[in-house]
Amino acid sequence: MYSSPQALEPSNPQSSAPSFSLYLHIPYCQAKCPYCDFNSYAATQWPEQAYVDALCSEMRHYAQLEPWRSGSIRTIFFGGGTPSLFAPRSLASVLASVVGLWPVAADVETTLEANPGTISAESLRGFRAAGVNRMSFGVQSFVPRHLQTLGRIHGAQEARDAVRLARAAGFDKISVDLIFALPQQTLEEWESDLAEALQLETNHISAYNLTYEEGTPFHQWRKQGRLQSLPDEIEVAMFTRTQEVLGAAGFEQYEVSNYARFGHACRHNLNYWHSGSYLGVGAGAHSYAKPGQGVQGWGERWGNEKSPGRYMELVGKTGAARATHEELSESQARGEFMFLGLRCRDGIDATQFRARFQCDVETAFPHLEQLRSDGLLQCDGQRWQLSPRGLLLGDSVFATFL
Ligand code: SF4
Repeated sequence: MYSSPQALEPSNPQSSAPSFSLYLHIPYCQAKCPYCDFNSYAATQWPEQAYVDALCSEMRHYAQLEPWRSGSIRTIFFGGGTPSLFAPRSLASVLASVVGLWPVAADVETTLEANPGTISAESLRGFRAAGVNRMSFGVQSFVPRHLQTLGRIHGAQEARDAVRLARAAGFDKISVDLIFALPQQTLEEWESDLAEALQLETNHISAYNLTYEEGTPFHQWRKQGRLQSLPDEIEVAMFTRTQEVLGAAGFEQYEVSNYARFGHACRHNLNYWHSGSYLGVGAGAHSYAKPGQGVQGWGERWGNEKSPGRYMELVGKTGAARATHEELSESQARGEFMFLGLRCRDGIDATQFRARFQCDVETAFPHLEQLRSDGLLQCDGQRWQLSPRGLLLGDSVFATFL
């Protein structure tokens, strides 16, 4: 049994300190999937204790600095890589460190990303006891030949079992990630993936369109003709079918690629899209501090050293491992507010924009009217949102705010 039952007892639930989200990056995977461009590394062994120590040291470093020093935590997210490779006692010690450093909201959302090929009934019980209260499983597909193409280490049955075991371990917030527009995938296969995910009775489904990211084997294989991307009209049909099937099952599309039953949207990701502050610790993690409380200009962001070895070395020497740092200009901050916020179905609130930037959103972005007359955006006088057509062409809309 793993102990740390009090790991997420709020240390100061009444705190009125400004809140932020905490992201912890764990970069190790059992194998590198050929489509993946995340900061992740295939490993058969990993320096778990040393890495946990580095995460805790880095958190101690930032807990002494504004704006984090006077903040409180509302969401925590272990992402990767494959954080479920780490033992529950390791995550419990990280979470114990978190509550020792910051007030934590009574209703904190604590997510663990997991590969279905890396968990067991015992480890899931351990994660729950450690204070994790939301599981996000990278399932990607239930069709064996697609799992093979994607280089996944798990089969379809392991994915089904993972969700059932998580529920048995006490998780009531469970998300499943799927990918569509896989090479040679048919619309019928995608419909059957959606049906399988619904049968598992999860309350959150992420449905991502496969992208061929530069630097990945998939990108190379497509260039060589070993893989072919699907025609645009099939991708559009899959996206539209996703909206129909999940909508009919009671899921709301609350973001371009994310669907949830009422009350189950991922609060951690909503904080990103709503331009809230987040502290990212771990190799390659990114942070953003919005203006105010000692933050320069229109906000600051930075990224950590990507290599896990170098990350640990730098944290050991200086407490932090920043590799990049940027102060945002006003126009960058406005643009980011728009293209992040428009990803969400509830879009941009004109009053919030004015409060943040002392300027009307229509004055800051005169091309909003053009996007509306092109049928890509809609506005009820208060909120600017992607239209149904805009949802299909989101990337080209977002690009206009960069
Ligand atoms: S398991 Fe996830 S993070 Fe790791 S290589 Fe595969 S897609 Fe990337």
